[in-house]
Amino acid sequence: MRDTDLTKLLGWPGYRVYRHEIDEEAKTLKLWVRRKRGHQKLVCSGCGRALETAHDTNEREVRDLPCMEFRTTVVVEVYRVCCPDCGIKVEKVPQLPTKAPFSKRFEDAVGQACESAAARQVALRFGLAASTVRAMDLRYLERWAADRRKPVLAQMGVDEIHLGKKQKFITVVSNLDSAEPVWFDRERKKETLDGFFQGELTARQRMRITAACVDMWEPYRLSIEQWAPNCRIVYDKFHVMQHANKAVDEVRRAEYFRKGGAIRGLVRGKRWLLLSRWMHLSSPKRQELTQLFAMNRKIFKAYLLKESLDRLWTYRYEGAMVNYLHRWIEQLRWQRLKPFQKLAEMLVSHLDGILNYCRTKVPLGIVEAINGNIKSLLRRGRGYRNLRYLLLKAQRIASTRTEFVAFRKAA
Ligand SMILES: [Zn+2]
Repeated sequence: MRDTDLTKLLGWPGYRVYRHEIDEEAKTLKLWVRRKRGHQKLVCSGCGRALETAHDTNEREVRDLPCMEFRTTVVVEVYRVCCPDCGIKVEKVPQLPTKAPFSKRFEDAVGQACESAAARQVALRFGLAASTVRAMDLRYLERWAADRRKPVLAQMGVDEIHLGKKQKFITVVSNLDSAEPVWFDRERKKETLDGFFQGELTARQRMRITAACVDMWEPYRLSIEQWAPNCRIVYDKFHVMQHANKAVDEVRRAEYFRKGGAIRGLVRGKRWLLLSRWMHLSSPKRQELTQLFAMNRKIFKAYLLKESLDRLWTYRYEGAMVNYLHRWIEQLRWQRLKPFQKLAEMLVSHLDGILNYCRTKVPLGIVEAINGNIKSLLRRGRGYRNLRYLLLKAQRIASTRTEFVAFRKAA
Protein backbone atom coordinates (compact mmCIF):
# COMPACT_ATOMS: atom_id res chain seq x y z
CA MET A 1 0.00 0.00 0.00
CA ARG A 2 1.26 3.45 -0.85
CA ASP A 3 1.68 6.14 1.76
CA THR A 4 -0.50 8.52 -0.27
CA ASP A 5 -3.40 6.10 -0.02
CA LEU A 6 -2.82 5.70 3.69
CA THR A 7 -2.84 9.49 4.00
CA LYS A 8 -6.33 9.49 2.47
CA LEU A 9 -7.47 6.67 4.75
CA LEU A 10 -6.10 8.38 7.83
CA GLY A 11 -7.75 11.67 6.99
CA TRP A 12 -5.96 13.98 9.40
CA PRO A 13 -6.26 17.42 7.78
CA GLY A 14 -2.82 18.87 7.04
CA TYR A 15 -0.91 15.67 7.74
CA ARG A 16 0.57 13.03 5.47
CA VAL A 17 1.84 9.51 6.07
CA TYR A 18 5.52 9.09 5.23
CA ARG A 19 6.13 5.62 6.60
CA HIS A 20 4.05 2.66 7.69
CA GLU A 21 4.32 -0.78 9.18
CA ILE A 22 1.72 -3.53 9.00
CA ASP A 23 1.94 -6.52 11.31
CA GLU A 24 -0.44 -9.18 10.00
CA GLU A 25 0.11 -11.53 12.95
CA ALA A 26 -0.57 -8.98 15.64
CA LYS A 27 -3.13 -7.13 13.49
CA THR A 28 -1.54 -3.77 14.06
CA LEU A 29 -0.93 -0.85 11.77
CA LYS A 30 1.55 1.86 12.57
CA LEU A 31 1.70 5.12 10.65
CA TRP A 32 4.33 7.85 10.81
CA VAL A 33 2.92 11.24 9.90
CA ARG A 34 4.16 14.77 9.47
CA ARG A 35 2.76 18.04 8.21
CA LYS A 36 2.05 18.42 4.52
CA ARG A 37 4.09 20.98 2.69
CA GLY A 38 2.41 24.37 2.84
CA HIS A 39 0.89 23.63 6.23
CA GLN A 40 3.80 25.06 8.11
CA LYS A 41 2.02 27.64 10.28
CA LEU A 42 2.64 26.61 13.85
CA VAL A 43 0.34 27.55 16.71
CA CYS A 44 1.53 27.97 20.29
CA SER A 45 -0.43 25.65 22.58
CA GLY A 46 -0.07 28.16 25.41
CA CYS A 47 -1.65 31.26 23.88
CA GLY A 48 -2.78 30.33 20.37
CA ARG A 49 -0.39 32.73 18.64
CA ALA A 50 0.70 31.74 15.12
CA LEU A 51 4.46 31.42 14.65
CA GLU A 52 6.64 31.02 11.58
CA THR A 53 9.55 28.98 12.83
CA ALA A 54 10.01 25.86 14.83
CA HIS A 55 12.35 25.44 17.74
CA ASP A 56 12.79 21.68 17.43
CA THR A 57 10.77 18.57 16.68
CA ASN A 58 9.72 15.56 18.63
CA GLU A 59 7.69 12.41 18.07
CA ARG A 60 4.49 11.45 19.82
CA GLU A 61 2.81 8.11 19.58
CA VAL A 62 -0.96 7.92 19.97
CA ARG A 63 -3.61 5.30 19.49
CA ASP A 64 -6.10 6.24 16.80
CA LEU A 65 -9.33 4.71 15.48
CA PRO A 66 -8.80 1.18 14.15
CA CYS A 67 -8.38 0.57 10.42
CA MET A 68 -10.49 -2.47 9.46
CA GLU A 69 -9.38 -5.09 11.95
CA PHE A 70 -6.05 -3.44 12.61
CA ARG A 71 -5.38 -1.58 15.80
CA THR A 72 -3.84 1.66 14.61
CA THR A 73 -1.07 3.71 16.14
CA VAL A 74 0.03 7.05 14.73
CA VAL A 75 3.46 8.50 15.34
CA VAL A 76 3.20 12.25 14.90
CA GLU A 77 6.00 14.67 14.26
CA VAL A 78 5.33 17.48 16.70
CA TYR A 79 7.16 20.80 16.75
CA ARG A 80 8.06 23.01 19.61
CA VAL A 81 7.89 26.73 19.15
CA CYS A 82 9.68 29.60 20.79
CA CYS A 83 6.78 31.88 21.73
CA PRO A 84 7.54 35.46 22.79
CA ASP A 85 4.88 35.18 25.50
CA CYS A 86 5.09 31.59 26.70
CA GLY A 87 8.68 30.63 25.98
CA ILE A 88 9.39 27.20 24.58
CA LYS A 89 6.07 25.45 24.08
CA VAL A 90 4.80 22.52 22.13
CA GLU A 91 2.68 23.42 19.07
CA LYS A 92 -1.06 22.93 19.06
CA VAL A 93 -2.24 19.88 17.12
CA PRO A 94 -6.03 19.46 16.84
CA GLN A 95 -5.87 15.67 17.02
CA LEU A 96 -3.71 15.82 20.16
CA PRO A 97 -5.72 17.81 22.71
CA THR A 98 -4.03 16.33 25.78
CA LYS A 99 -0.85 14.60 26.83
CA ALA A 100 -2.61 11.24 26.92
CA PRO A 101 -1.49 8.70 24.30
CA PHE A 102 -4.72 8.85 22.29
CA SER A 103 -5.95 10.90 19.36
CA LYS A 104 -8.90 13.21 19.90
CA ARG A 105 -11.18 11.20 17.67
CA PHE A 106 -10.28 7.98 19.49
CA GLU A 107 -11.19 9.64 22.78
CA ASP A 108 -14.42 10.90 21.23
CA ALA A 109 -15.32 7.36 20.15
CA VAL A 110 -14.69 6.07 23.68
CA GLY A 111 -16.67 8.97 25.18
CA GLN A 112 -19.59 8.31 22.83
CA ALA A 113 -19.53 4.63 23.75
CA CYS A 114 -19.69 5.63 27.42
CA GLU A 115 -22.99 7.39 26.78
CA SER A 116 -24.84 4.14 26.40
CA ALA A 117 -22.70 1.64 28.31
CA ALA A 118 -20.87 1.37 31.61
CA ALA A 119 -17.16 2.23 31.65
CA ARG A 120 -16.29 -1.39 32.42
CA GLN A 121 -18.03 -2.64 29.29
CA VAL A 122 -16.46 0.03 27.12
CA ALA A 123 -13.07 -0.85 28.57
CA LEU A 124 -13.54 -4.46 27.59
CA ARG A 125 -14.55 -3.55 24.06
CA PHE A 126 -11.59 -1.25 23.45
CA GLY A 127 -9.05 -3.32 25.37
CA LEU A 128 -8.34 -0.59 27.90
CA ALA A 129 -8.36 -0.31 31.68
CA ALA A 130 -11.66 0.96 33.12
CA SER A 131 -9.83 3.82 34.85
CA THR A 132 -8.35 4.89 31.50
CA VAL A 133 -11.80 4.85 29.92
CA ARG A 134 -13.22 7.01 32.71
CA ALA A 135 -10.38 9.51 32.37
CA MET A 136 -10.96 9.66 28.61
CA ASP A 137 -14.70 10.06 29.05
CA LEU A 138 -14.09 12.91 31.48
CA ARG A 139 -11.83 14.71 28.96
CA TYR A 140 -14.40 14.13 26.22
CA LEU A 141 -17.11 15.68 28.39
CA GLU A 142 -14.88 18.60 29.43
CA ARG A 143 -14.28 19.42 25.78
CA TRP A 144 -17.99 19.23 25.07
CA ALA A 145 -18.77 21.50 28.04
CA ALA A 146 -16.14 24.04 27.00
CA ASP A 147 -17.65 24.31 23.51
CA ARG A 148 -21.23 24.94 24.48
CA ARG A 149 -23.05 28.06 25.55
CA LYS A 150 -24.29 27.98 29.09
CA PRO A 151 -28.03 28.59 29.38
CA VAL A 152 -29.24 31.52 31.49
CA LEU A 153 -30.40 30.59 34.98
CA ALA A 154 -33.83 32.05 35.71
CA GLN A 155 -35.66 29.23 37.47
CA MET A 156 -33.58 26.97 39.60
CA GLY A 157 -34.06 23.76 41.52
CA VAL A 158 -32.13 22.99 44.67
CA ASP A 159 -31.98 19.46 45.87
CA GLU A 160 -30.15 17.07 48.06
CA ILE A 161 -29.14 13.66 46.86
CA HIS A 162 -27.95 10.88 49.07
CA LEU A 163 -24.79 9.40 47.58
CA GLY A 164 -24.28 6.61 50.05
CA LYS A 165 -23.17 5.85 53.55
CA LYS A 166 -19.67 7.17 53.07
CA GLN A 167 -20.22 10.27 50.99
CA LYS A 168 -23.57 11.24 52.52
CA PHE A 169 -25.39 14.13 50.86
CA ILE A 170 -24.60 16.40 48.01
CA THR A 171 -26.43 19.57 47.05
CA VAL A 172 -27.57 19.75 43.44
CA VAL A 173 -28.49 23.02 41.74
CA SER A 174 -30.36 22.65 38.48
CA ASN A 175 -31.63 24.87 35.72
CA LEU A 176 -35.35 24.22 35.30
CA ASP A 177 -35.53 25.84 31.87
CA SER A 178 -32.80 23.76 30.29
CA ALA A 179 -33.67 20.79 32.52
CA GLU A 180 -30.11 20.05 33.54
CA PRO A 181 -28.03 20.10 36.69
CA VAL A 182 -25.58 23.00 36.78
CA TRP A 183 -23.64 22.54 39.98
CA PHE A 184 -22.84 19.96 42.68
CA ASP A 185 -21.11 20.11 46.02
CA ARG A 186 -20.77 18.01 49.11
CA GLU A 187 -22.94 18.65 52.20
CA ARG A 188 -26.31 20.39 52.38
CA LYS A 189 -25.69 23.34 54.64
CA LYS A 190 -26.40 27.00 54.08
CA GLU A 191 -22.69 27.51 53.39
CA THR A 192 -22.87 24.87 50.69
CA LEU A 193 -25.44 26.77 48.65
CA ASP A 194 -23.75 30.07 49.54
CA GLY A 195 -20.75 28.64 47.74
CA PHE A 196 -22.76 28.33 44.54
CA PHE A 197 -24.12 31.88 44.62
CA GLN A 198 -20.75 33.32 45.52
CA GLY A 199 -18.50 31.26 43.32
CA GLU A 200 -20.57 30.59 40.21
CA LEU A 201 -22.69 33.69 39.63
CA THR A 202 -22.13 37.39 39.31
CA ALA A 203 -24.36 39.79 41.22
CA ARG A 204 -26.26 40.40 38.00
CA GLN A 205 -26.85 36.73 37.37
CA ARG A 206 -28.10 36.32 40.92
CA MET A 207 -30.63 39.12 40.37
CA ARG A 208 -31.96 37.34 37.31
CA ILE A 209 -33.14 34.31 39.26
CA THR A 210 -36.91 34.51 39.61
CA ALA A 211 -37.90 31.21 41.19
CA ALA A 212 -36.41 28.29 43.07
CA CYS A 213 -38.03 24.92 43.63
CA VAL A 214 -36.65 23.62 46.89
CA ASP A 215 -37.34 21.25 49.69
CA MET A 216 -38.68 22.61 53.00
CA TRP A 217 -35.16 22.77 54.33
CA GLU A 218 -34.21 25.91 56.25
CA PRO A 219 -30.53 26.20 55.24
CA TYR A 220 -31.45 26.43 51.55
CA ARG A 221 -34.17 28.98 52.15
CA LEU A 222 -31.83 31.19 54.17
CA SER A 223 -29.15 31.05 51.51
CA ILE A 224 -31.55 31.89 48.68
CA GLU A 225 -33.06 34.80 50.59
CA GLN A 226 -29.63 36.20 51.24
CA TRP A 227 -28.22 35.90 47.72
CA ALA A 228 -31.12 36.05 45.29
CA PRO A 229 -33.42 38.86 46.38
CA ASN A 230 -35.74 38.56 43.35
CA CYS A 231 -36.23 34.86 43.75
CA ARG A 232 -39.53 33.36 44.84
CA ILE A 233 -39.22 30.17 46.83
CA VAL A 234 -41.56 27.42 45.73
CA TYR A 235 -42.05 24.30 47.79
CA ASP A 236 -43.00 22.17 44.84
CA LYS A 237 -45.05 19.04 44.49
CA PHE A 238 -42.11 16.71 44.10
CA HIS A 239 -40.52 17.78 47.37
CA VAL A 240 -43.75 17.87 49.35
CA MET A 241 -44.72 14.43 48.07
CA GLN A 242 -41.34 13.11 49.16
CA HIS A 243 -42.35 14.03 52.71
CA ALA A 244 -45.75 12.41 52.25
CA ASN A 245 -44.05 9.21 51.12
CA LYS A 246 -41.80 9.34 54.14
CA ALA A 247 -44.87 9.64 56.37
CA VAL A 248 -46.47 6.58 54.74
CA ASP A 249 -43.28 4.67 55.28
CA GLU A 250 -43.13 5.64 58.94
CA VAL A 251 -46.70 4.42 59.46
CA ARG A 252 -45.85 1.16 57.69
CA ARG A 253 -42.80 0.58 59.87
CA ALA A 254 -44.62 1.41 63.10
CA GLU A 255 -47.41 -1.02 62.21
CA TYR A 256 -44.89 -3.69 61.32
CA PHE A 257 -43.30 -3.49 64.75
CA ARG A 258 -46.52 -2.95 66.68
CA LYS A 259 -48.33 -5.95 65.27
CA GLY A 260 -47.06 -9.48 65.08
CA GLY A 261 -47.84 -12.62 63.17
CA ALA A 262 -49.78 -12.61 59.92
CA ILE A 263 -49.71 -8.86 59.39
CA ARG A 264 -45.92 -8.81 59.44
CA GLY A 265 -45.81 -11.16 56.49
CA LEU A 266 -48.20 -8.89 54.61
CA VAL A 267 -46.34 -5.68 55.39
CA ARG A 268 -42.92 -7.05 54.63
CA GLY A 269 -41.56 -5.98 51.26
CA LYS A 270 -44.49 -3.62 50.56
CA ARG A 271 -42.50 -0.45 50.91
CA TRP A 272 -42.16 0.15 47.20
CA LEU A 273 -45.82 -0.66 46.57
CA LEU A 274 -46.98 1.78 49.20
CA LEU A 275 -44.84 4.53 47.73
CA SER A 276 -46.18 3.99 44.22
CA ARG A 277 -49.14 5.87 42.85
CA TRP A 278 -52.27 3.78 42.58
CA MET A 279 -52.72 4.70 38.92
CA HIS A 280 -49.28 3.32 38.08
CA LEU A 281 -49.90 -0.12 39.56
CA SER A 282 -50.94 -3.24 37.67
CA SER A 283 -54.04 -5.07 38.87
CA PRO A 284 -52.16 -7.91 40.68
CA LYS A 285 -50.19 -5.26 42.56
CA ARG A 286 -53.37 -3.40 43.40
CA GLN A 287 -54.79 -6.65 44.75
CA GLU A 288 -51.76 -7.11 46.99
CA LEU A 289 -52.30 -3.66 48.40
CA THR A 290 -56.04 -4.19 48.84
CA GLN A 291 -55.30 -7.32 50.87
CA LEU A 292 -52.95 -5.37 53.07
CA PHE A 293 -55.45 -2.53 53.50
CA ALA A 294 -58.17 -4.98 54.58
CA MET A 295 -55.90 -6.15 57.37
CA ASN A 296 -54.63 -2.80 58.52
CA ARG A 297 -56.73 0.34 58.59
CA LYS A 298 -53.90 2.67 59.56
CA ILE A 299 -51.79 1.82 56.58
CA PHE A 300 -54.87 2.14 54.39
CA LYS A 301 -55.63 5.59 55.76
CA ALA A 302 -52.01 6.69 55.34
CA TYR A 303 -52.02 5.57 51.74
CA LEU A 304 -55.25 7.40 50.99
CA LEU A 305 -53.93 10.57 52.58
CA LYS A 306 -50.79 10.43 50.50
CA GLU A 307 -52.76 9.80 47.31
CA SER A 308 -55.18 12.61 47.94
CA LEU A 309 -52.52 15.18 48.86
CA ASP A 310 -51.27 14.86 45.30
CA ARG A 311 -54.44 16.56 44.08
CA LEU A 312 -53.39 19.80 45.78
CA TRP A 313 -51.49 20.76 42.65
CA THR A 314 -54.49 20.53 40.40
CA TYR A 315 -55.62 23.89 41.79
CA ARG A 316 -54.29 27.05 40.21
CA TYR A 317 -55.94 29.53 42.57
CA GLU A 318 -54.56 30.25 45.99
CA GLY A 319 -57.99 30.20 47.68
CA ALA A 320 -58.87 26.82 46.21
CA MET A 321 -55.49 25.43 47.17
CA VAL A 322 -55.84 26.63 50.76
CA ASN A 323 -59.36 25.20 50.99
CA TYR A 324 -58.27 21.86 49.71
CA LEU A 325 -55.35 21.73 52.13
CA HIS A 326 -57.61 22.55 55.06
CA ARG A 327 -60.04 19.83 54.11
CA TRP A 328 -57.12 17.44 53.82
CA ILE A 329 -55.86 18.34 57.30
CA GLU A 330 -59.41 18.01 58.62
CA GLN A 331 -59.34 14.31 57.68
CA LEU A 332 -56.39 13.74 59.99
CA ARG A 333 -58.52 14.29 63.05
CA TRP A 334 -59.09 11.25 65.26
CA GLN A 335 -56.76 9.23 63.04
CA ARG A 336 -53.82 9.24 65.41
CA LEU A 337 -51.32 9.15 62.56
CA LYS A 338 -48.37 10.96 64.11
CA PRO A 339 -46.23 11.18 60.96
CA PHE A 340 -49.10 12.82 59.08
CA GLN A 341 -49.81 15.28 61.86
CA LYS A 342 -46.18 16.30 61.68
CA LEU A 343 -46.45 16.63 57.92
CA ALA A 344 -49.56 18.80 58.28
CA GLU A 345 -47.76 21.13 60.67
CA MET A 346 -44.91 21.39 58.24
CA LEU A 347 -47.25 22.23 55.35
CA VAL A 348 -49.04 24.89 57.36
CA SER A 349 -45.81 26.57 58.42
CA HIS A 350 -44.56 26.56 54.82
CA LEU A 351 -47.91 27.50 53.29
CA ASP A 352 -46.68 30.64 51.58
CA GLY A 353 -44.03 28.76 49.63
CA ILE A 354 -46.53 26.08 48.67
CA LEU A 355 -48.98 28.70 47.41
CA ASN A 356 -46.20 30.27 45.37
CA TYR A 357 -46.97 27.51 42.92
CA CYS A 358 -50.05 29.55 41.97
CA ARG A 359 -48.07 32.77 41.69
CA THR A 360 -45.12 31.55 39.66
CA LYS A 361 -45.29 29.19 36.78
CA VAL A 362 -42.61 26.59 37.36
CA PRO A 363 -42.36 23.47 35.28
CA LEU A 364 -43.43 20.40 37.23
CA GLY A 365 -41.50 17.20 37.05
CA ILE A 366 -38.15 18.67 35.98
CA VAL A 367 -36.52 18.44 39.40
CA GLU A 368 -37.79 14.90 39.67
CA ALA A 369 -36.41 13.94 36.26
CA ILE A 370 -32.97 15.41 36.99
CA ASN A 371 -32.94 13.59 40.32
CA GLY A 372 -33.89 10.34 38.63
CA ASN A 373 -31.14 10.69 36.02
CA ILE A 374 -28.47 11.27 38.64
CA LYS A 375 -29.66 8.33 40.67
CA SER A 376 -29.64 6.01 37.69
CA LEU A 377 -26.10 7.18 36.85
CA LEU A 378 -25.06 6.41 40.41
CA ARG A 379 -26.61 2.96 40.23
CA ARG A 380 -24.89 2.15 36.94
CA GLY A 381 -21.54 3.72 37.70
CA ARG A 382 -20.99 2.37 41.21
CA GLY A 383 -19.84 5.47 42.96
CA TYR A 384 -18.56 8.59 41.34
CA ARG A 385 -15.73 9.76 43.53
CA ASN A 386 -15.23 12.62 41.13
CA LEU A 387 -18.25 14.93 41.44
CA ARG A 388 -17.22 16.94 38.40
CA TYR A 389 -17.45 13.78 36.30
CA LEU A 390 -20.88 12.97 37.67
CA LEU A 391 -22.08 16.50 36.93
CA LEU A 392 -20.83 16.50 33.33
CA LYS A 393 -22.30 13.08 32.78
CA ALA A 394 -25.71 14.19 34.05
CA GLN A 395 -25.56 17.36 31.93
CA ARG A 396 -24.73 15.38 28.84
CA ILE A 397 -27.67 13.04 29.44
CA ALA A 398 -29.97 16.01 29.91
CA SER A 399 -28.79 17.72 26.75
CA THR A 400 -28.92 14.66 24.51
CA ARG A 401 -32.44 13.91 25.73
CA THR A 402 -33.63 17.41 24.97
CA GLU A 403 -32.13 17.19 21.52
CA PHE A 404 -34.02 13.98 21.02
CA VAL A 405 -37.28 15.54 22.18
CA ALA A 406 -36.71 18.59 20.00
CA PHE A 407 -36.10 16.34 17.02
CA ARG A 408 -39.31 14.45 17.64
CA LYS A 409 -41.28 17.65 17.92
CA ALA A 410 -39.97 18.80 14.57
CA ALA A 411 -40.90 15.48 12.99
ZN1 LIG B 1 2.40 31.36 23.45
